[in-house]
Amino acid sequence: MAPAPSQPPVSASPDGLPQHIPHWIGGEAVESVTGRSFPVADPVTNTPYAQAAAGDEKDVERAVLAAQHAFPAWAKLGNRERATILNRIADAIESRHEKLAQFESYDSGLPITQARGQARRAAENFRYFADVIVALHEEAFRVGESQLNYVVRTPVGVAGLITPWNTPFMLESWKLAPALASGCPLVLKPAEWTPLSASLWPDILTEAGVPDGVVNIVHGIGEEAGQALVDHPDVPLISFTGSTTTGRHIVRSTADQLKTVSMELGGKSPVVIFADADIEAALDSVVFGVFSLNGERCTAGSRVLVERSLYEKFAARLAERADRVKVGPPSDPATEVGALVHPEHYARVLDFVETGRKEARLVAGGTRPAHLPEGNYLQPTVFIDVDRTARIFQEEIFGPVVAVAPFDDEAEAIDLANATPYGLAAYIWTNDLKRGHRVAHAVESGMVWINSHNVRDLRTPFGGVKASGLGREGGAHSIDFYTESKIVHVAMGDVHTPRFGGPA
Ligand code: NAD
Repeated sequence: MAPAPSQPPVSASPDGLPQHIPHWIGGEAVESVTGRSFPVADPVTNTPYAQAAAGDEKDVERAVLAAQHAFPAWAKLGNRERATILNRIADAIESRHEKLAQFESYDSGLPITQARGQARRAAENFRYFADVIVALHEEAFRVGESQLNYVVRTPVGVAGLITPWNTPFMLESWKLAPALASGCPLVLKPAEWTPLSASLWPDILTEAGVPDGVVNIVHGIGEEAGQALVDHPDVPLISFTGSTTTGRHIVRSTADQLKTVSMELGGKSPVVIFADADIEAALDSVVFGVFSLNGERCTAGSRVLVERSLYEKFAARLAERADRVKVGPPSDPATEVGALVHPEHYARVLDFVETGRKEARLVAGGTRPAHLPEGNYLQPTVFIDVDRTARIFQEEIFGPVVAVAPFDDEAEAIDLANATPYGLAAYIWTNDLKRGHRVAHAVESGMVWINSHNVRDLRTPFGGVKASGLGREGGAHSIDFYTESKIVHVAMGDVHTPRFGGPA
């Protein structure tokens, strides 16, 4: 990827890096009640550059109170007024675009060019939901001459939003925008490995005129700050994006209070390539789909299933391309794969690579690139001849590692595609129109792309089946999630009522 000529050079350590990241509660930057904080490191040097406030239930309590206080006025605003504020948030994000991308890239290890794309998408999320609520209409049902039924939507209440470290700011915006559009105040708990970009929200929200207390941010460790938010009795709704293990735990924790939950969880998405496909396009798509965003992408096409007649050739070309992917510092505009987010995650991905060496045939990568002696770097890694029982076929690795396997016919392709606990995305490559639809319908996943990588219009439902999640967000589904629908039945004439206990 050549650097765009108009982009300024990017320094490894961005200007304006804070040394301390406080919570944001009731419109104020505040420390934890306990005064505790935790260190935050960048994934290139793995040395702490800042301390972030470590929240627990006392900080969550303050944040929920602030949100409750702000709720009535925010819910009462007209949709047009809320939309205006949402558009101003988008403006404020856009005016900080470069800083936001640099912070994100520095903190998470995402290549700077890809972090810029994520920053643009974050602004778009607000513009989109501003449009949605202005255009929103509520349903009405006429029942002949006798009844009129209509739906009233009201915001659910204080929303608890919990987000992961991959593309953190974009995923935060994905939840903030529909929650705010729906009239919910909220408490956000960003991922502890990547709190830096979230430190930009307070200025963005203040500049946009979001009233104090409508958005509250509590930093901290998942088991402390996150769990306190999940358990809080005045938070009726939890929107969670993260691992399946944590998602299951949260669903169990919320069961007693019967909270509304949305779970966007892990994936192990198949790419099914039939021999009649446009092979060059499929190859580009596979390489981008699994190695972009450092492979730390929930919808990564991390299992590539190839029709046997094409298999050897495709596998060889994939290995060749993986070898040529540019791994480098996240701040370098030429970098295609940057540094993995955290040494703990890096060690976990390397463990999978070691497992893969025993389970399958390594044909590319598998080691740190020689020119990068430090930092969490891994050369894009390709395993072929991967059996369906292998751990690298079954488990989400969440790094630049792909498992490749052959299939003989359509039935086997579908069987292999469905042979994991996950069901987030699937990608199908064929020029046979009927087969494309047939396989798309047979694959167990919440989303399918035919002859494309993950290109998503914001109106479409997003989410997974099986171990990949519960519920759908995106488009109208998000508004459904953050609002309660009440149906009002109105009699328009005399209602026939059977007369109980009347005169004989
Ligand atoms: P994670 O589950 O470890 O953490 C996610 C968030 O949950 C963090 O903010 C963490 O602090 C918090 N958390 C942890 N324990 C908690 C608890 N007991 N109570 C409340 N909150 C708690 O996930 P991660 O490692 O940060 O993210 C990677 C995972 O996210 C991958 O599995 C990936 O597939 C998934 N993901 C899914 C989607 C999707 O839309 N389906 C999108 C992005 C990432």
